[in-house]
Amino acid sequence: MAAPGFLAIGGGPAGVSAAETFRARHRHIPVRILSADPALPYAKPPLSKQFLCGQPAELDLHSAGWFERNGIELVLGVTAERIDTATQEVVTAGGARYPYWHLVLASGSRAVPLTVPGADKALPLRSFADAVALRMAARHAESAVVVGAGLIGCEAAACLSATGLHTVLVAPEPVPLARRFGEDVGERVVKMLSGAGVRFTGAAPVAEVTDSGVLLDSGERIDGDLVVAATGVRPDSRLAQEAGLEMSRGRVVVDEHMRTSVHNVFAAGDITLAHNVTAGRAVAAEHWRDAAQQGLVAGLTAAGYSAAWDMMPGFSCTIGAVTMRYRGWGDVWDSCRITERRHGFTATYTRLGDEVATLSATTSPGA
Ligand SMILES: Cc1cc2nc3c(=O)[nH]c(=O)nc-3n(C[C@H](O)[C@H](O)[C@H](O)COP(=O)(O)OP(=O)(O)OC[C@H]3O[C@@H](n4cnc5c(N)ncnc54)[C@H](O)[C@@H]3O)c2cc1C
Repeated sequence: MAAPGFLAIGGGPAGVSAAETFRARHRHIPVRILSADPALPYAKPPLSKQFLCGQPAELDLHSAGWFERNGIELVLGVTAERIDTATQEVVTAGGARYPYWHLVLASGSRAVPLTVPGADKALPLRSFADAVALRMAARHAESAVVVGAGLIGCEAAACLSATGLHTVLVAPEPVPLARRFGEDVGERVVKMLSGAGVRFTGAAPVAEVTDSGVLLDSGERIDGDLVVAATGVRPDSRLAQEAGLEMSRGRVVVDEHMRTSVHNVFAAGDITLAHNVTAGRAVAAEHWRDAAQQGLVAGLTAAGYSAAWDMMPGFSCTIGAVTMRYRGWGDVWDSCRITERRHGFTATYTRLGDEVATLSATTSPGA
């Protein structure tokens, strides 16, 4: 059996950041990352941007040599099946046992499946392997249908169009991203997509994925040599639930130090509902930078240092020539004010008169 030490489940930004932070404080305690993904830990944001657009993209979080030099053992392509909090062990699907002194659960999100007939013909975009498969399929295609107009669906559609595919984005909502950012911003996103050569078809639930595209509920057929399913994500919290960690809204409840309700078990990243010191309440953030930050806090706390999550969550998104930057608490808002700027706009969201978020969109010069 492996020697006990620090163990992270998940090779995303939360797990890697937690492991490297812990390692930097303790040189002699075994540090291990267990990840179901067989690839060396990589950056996900470029997958639906530069990588899918066929542009150079820096993906590796660290080289294999870096992990080796820093004494962080990568156990890749291995799924944790169960956490035994009584014996402080993680049991893998193959029956191997990894004992821990400190465990950081960072299992991230998994795709919400498209549940219509033929859905298995649609390509997902969650992992490096998915992105490679999609890029290869795009090389042999002339047209694409992207199902789902969330951030990843919008980015992927713009990239597929940029590589020369006739691309249609279909979604049940009348305009993209309206639930999160409002109708006004949604209308503007339709224009961004159109500027990127993507036709958006809203209020159009998909009834079936066929061999030649999709069939809509309305009976209309939209042709596509390839179909992408970008139908959202949900926290991958099965392990946490079965281990008896306190959960709320399908997420693992952690304090500002990323401690769960169970001794020596921390959680970080997309799976958490974490207390944010600045907000003064629990916040769910499903963004890259926040996952890395929470991992850092978990790693420091596990290492015996004082650290708390206090950063305002945020992300960037690129749709064709437009980059949108969001900073905010992801809260419900009651008012949205849009200010035009020379190369874009800023949307300011308030609730009961207090500013809760801003979204700024900037079109790159020359576009
Ligand atoms: C294509 C794409 C583009 C994105 N673009 C952006 C962006 O522009 N900006 C932004 O802020 N965010 C973006 N995101 C979201 C961002 O990547 C996530 O918020 C972030 O990766 C969450 O980090 P995490 O460490 O919590 O989980 P993840 O990165 O999801 O990592 C979870 C890890 O856990 C592993 N795992 C899960 N279950 C088990 C198990 N039982 N046993 C072992 N391992 C397990 C998985 O294999 C994976 O390695 C994007 C996501 C995708 C997919």
